Order: sequence, then C-alpha cells, then structure tokens
Amino acid sequence: MVHTKRNALTVDVYVAPMRPFVGAPGQAPGDAPMWSPTSSTLIAGEREAILVDTLITEDQVDALAAWVRGFNKHIVGVYVTHGHQDHWIGLARLQKHFPDARGMATAEVVGRAMFETTDPRLSAYWRGSFPGELPKTPVLPEALSAQEFELEGQTLKAISVGQGDTEYSTFLHVPAAAAVIGGDVVYNRVHMMTAETDERSREAWIASLDAVAALDPKIVVAGHKRVGATDSPENISASQQYLRDFSRIVNEGGSVEDIVAAMLQIHGDRDNPRTLWHSSRTAVAKRS
Ligand SMILES: [Zn+2]
Repeated sequence: MVHTKRNALTVDVYVAPMRPFVGAPGQAPGDAPMWSPTSSTLIAGEREAILVDTLITEDQVDALAAWVRGFNKHIVGVYVTHGHQDHWIGLARLQKHFPDARGMATAEVVGRAMFETTDPRLSAYWRGSFPGELPKTPVLPEALSAQEFELEGQTLKAISVGQGDTEYSTFLHVPAAAAVIGGDVVYNRVHMMTAETDERSREAWIASLDAVAALDPKIVVAGHKRVGATDSPENISASQQYLRDFSRIVNEGGSVEDIVAAMLQIHGDRDNPRTLWHSSRTAVAKRS
C-alpha cells in the first residue's frame, strides 16, 4: 500500500533575555532603557526547518544559531513577521550561520523594513539604540509571491492583519502544529508597546487578535515574551485586555505617572515597565 505520510511540524521557541539599550535615561524606577525579551521560533520538519524572526544584535543571533544547531536541521528560511528592526535586522548575521536561510516576508513588511533602515530618523534610532551591534549592511527579507509557502509538504500561511504594535503586521499560521507565531500582534508577560497606536488603531489591534483566536491555535508564540512563559492561547485574550485597559486608563485623563501606576496595578506582572512608561508618555503627548 502506498502511504504518503506528512509529518507534523514541531515548534520550539528561543527567547533572547531582556537587556539594556541606549536611550533617554529613566525618570523613575522601572524606566531605565531596557529592550524587552524577544523571541525567535524554530518550525521544523524531519530534516528542514525555518525560523520566524531574527532577534537583533550579533551576540543574540550567535546564541540563537548555537541553539538552532542543537536541532540538527537544514535551515531553509526565515519568516519575518513585521517591519520593526528587532525582528529582522539579525537576518544578515543569521545568514552567515545558515547560508540557505532565505529571508521571507509579505511585500508590505519588506516595504516597512526598508523604511526602517532608510528613513534617517528611524535608522538613527536603531543604530543609536544598539551602537556597534548591528550589521553594517542590512539584509532585507525578500517579498513572498504568495501568502502561503511549504515546509516538507506542509503549508505555512502568512496572515496579514495590519495592526499589531506597528502597521502591516502579520503572523504565521502553522496548521500542522495548530500554532500561530504571532510576532508583535501578541505579547506574553511583557508590557505592550503602544507608542505607534491611538485608541482607534488599538481597536484594530484587538481585531487582529480576534483573527488569531479564530484559528483556534493550541500554541501561540508572542514576539515579546518573558523567558520561560507558556506559549498558550490565553496570550490572545490577555493581550486584548491589556490594550482595552490601556485605552480606558488613558481616557481617564491622568498624567503619565497616573497611567503607569494604574496599569501596573492591573498588569504589574509583566516584564519591562520601560515600555509602559514610553507608551504612556506617547499617549499623553498625543492628547494635545
Ligand atoms: Zn518587537
């Protein structure tokens, strides 16, 4: 009997721990510039595998590559979820370790990634945040010609939802593992970066999370997650609740300090309050 068996895919997650970056000095406890813990996900078949998102600095990518080698797979691609550099600028270094790993993203994400590295203000922001730690010549992901691609005969789907913590956000649906690799649409035990949003776009972000939930995944990997946190579907509703609470508290009209204090009362058990300070400062500045 001819029997073609497709293997299920496995999902493993590496998290680069929270670390300092170069930014405006903190003005209160918890406000020192720290970069949130950031994930890269290995999706593997029997022989081949891809990564989702690249981490940032050369040190982070080298540690990621050492971890990946332990799985003994041929790395054939790197899917990039969105245009923020903390999810793709590591591609250049990653390809030194895994030369066959083609960078892949939706055309919109490639466009946004290009903007992040060519816009003088944004480019200066990223280089200034991690001086001497980023590749001299960035390697952009290539635009996917379709929203689906295959790994060992299993289909992976790049789902464009638009709003996450930035525009043109996507997540990767892996039906063969009942998994969603959420990029920065989903956060897990880390304060959510809302500085590029307003109340209206946070509603759109909540709808993007509904699109994740609609797939009924059993594994949900956040782009920023606490080291060791569980990749559970509860991260979807927890992220939605955080965004709703943030909008409600901002609308109460208090100061930056008031917003931070009120959010910490409800969502204190998350890494990196610096992100909350930054998001709150931006929200107050947008009121005027
Ligand atoms: Zn990010």
